[in-house]
Amino acid sequence: MALLDLFSSKKSFSHGIHPDDNKGATAELPIRRMPFAEQMIIPLSQHIGAPAKAIVKVGQEVVRGEPIADPGGFVSIPMHSPVTGVVSSIDKLVPTAAGPKTRAIIIETYAAASQNVLFGCDVEVEQLSADELVKAVQQSGMVGLGGAAFPSHVKLLPPKGMSVETVLINGCECEPYLTCDHRVMLEYTEKLIAGTELVMNVLGAKRAIIGVEDNKPDAYQKINSLLPKDGRISCELVETKYPQGAEKMLITSLLNKEVPSGGLPAEIGVAVYNVGTVTQLGDLLPHNQGLIERVVTVSGYGVEKPGNYLIPIGTPLRFVLEQIGLKDDSSKIIMGGPMMGMTTASIDVAVTKGVSGIVIFEPENTEREDLQIYACIKCGHCLASCPIHLNPSMLGQLAAVRNYETMEEEYHLNDCFECGCCSYVCPSNIPLTQYFRIAKAINRKMKEKEV
Ligand code: SF4
Ligand code: SF4
Repeated sequence: MALLDLFSSKKSFSHGIHPDDNKGATAELPIRRMPFAEQMIIPLSQHIGAPAKAIVKVGQEVVRGEPIADPGGFVSIPMHSPVTGVVSSIDKLVPTAAGPKTRAIIIETYAAASQNVLFGCDVEVEQLSADELVKAVQQSGMVGLGGAAFPSHVKLLPPKGMSVETVLINGCECEPYLTCDHRVMLEYTEKLIAGTELVMNVLGAKRAIIGVEDNKPDAYQKINSLLPKDGRISCELVETKYPQGAEKMLITSLLNKEVPSGGLPAEIGVAVYNVGTVTQLGDLLPHNQGLIERVVTVSGYGVEKPGNYLIPIGTPLRFVLEQIGLKDDSSKIIMGGPMMGMTTASIDVAVTKGVSGIVIFEPENTEREDLQIYACIKCGHCLASCPIHLNPSMLGQLAAVRNYETMEEEYHLNDCFECGCCSYVCPSNIPLTQYFRIAKAINRKMKEKEV
């Protein structure tokens, strides 16, 4: 393909923003394995849905990859030991990046163990029925690795009366600083394609499209060079724009279709998976193994050794920081990307399945000249940035007077997926996205009380 053709693609959605991508520090760095910490913290709730239930006892020896917790229901997943070691505590309350404490299994790592994965067996995945594959996906403990941490097997079962014709694989990685998906696409391309075929087979989908932002032409070319010749899977470029990787935006960009307000992609025959998720499925399912590690980008001005690291799930953040070197102890640490990630106040949290990045800023990087919040000047920048065409200005004014019901009933608050575009562009420093997050939480609580 001619270079001109390669860059002429501008499949996209309307609105959105163009923040500096800041990916240069890690985009070229190959994935490296991080050492094993002395102690691992495996929270039983690191996904959307019911917490997992511990099936090990204090003092029990576990091998790397062994199941240590069962799913707590259908919308739940099991946990697997990330190391060979001994269980030292169960149900201990540990902090999480999201805030509330959660129960966890603590494992002391055997320093002398080889840390080979000793659990699992080879499986002919092609011979499994769709039901067996869904079960296998749940047993693998897989969740959406893009950050949502929604159990992957649930998405493989569309609601009654709906079917999926097209699978979209999200290789956009539109969050600034993050490059883990980019490296996965480049370094694990065969597994990505195998995982895509697997998901298509379970869903009975006719085709799959891998969407890659046009700032990653090397990944686009590598994938295209290895795609099967039957044409069922294609790879397409989309415009580099935030939040291109949001499910609804990618559907609009690649298929020119819209998911109805409050609806699911399956209603228009689509399912969307992150590249990291399908790549891990392509790797784990043929060996009947569970998710015990993931690729995480560690970057930002406050990091001595930025990189894309393969980190065991349950590794304490404190240990990661020792390995990569902090330039300043009072740095701001974000779990995830700077647009949708969470600032963490504790370094005692663990790297969980949904953590795609750890972005660290020195205090001077985050000091803004003017922190004061001013009144809305009706400039309209927030409306022009909102990718789902909400009215953030009006929503912000309603939030300020605590009129949360009207926000939901008349201004589609629940369609807001907290992308942060409106806050990013607001010249009055109004923390719109935080307002909307709080408003949604209050409405949820009110509804729970009514039930
Ligand atoms: S945070 Fe919500 S309201 Fe603001 S731009 Fe994103 S989707 Fe729109
Ligand atoms: S961007 Fe800020 S100041 Fe401008 S209309 Fe929106 S809320 Fe008002």
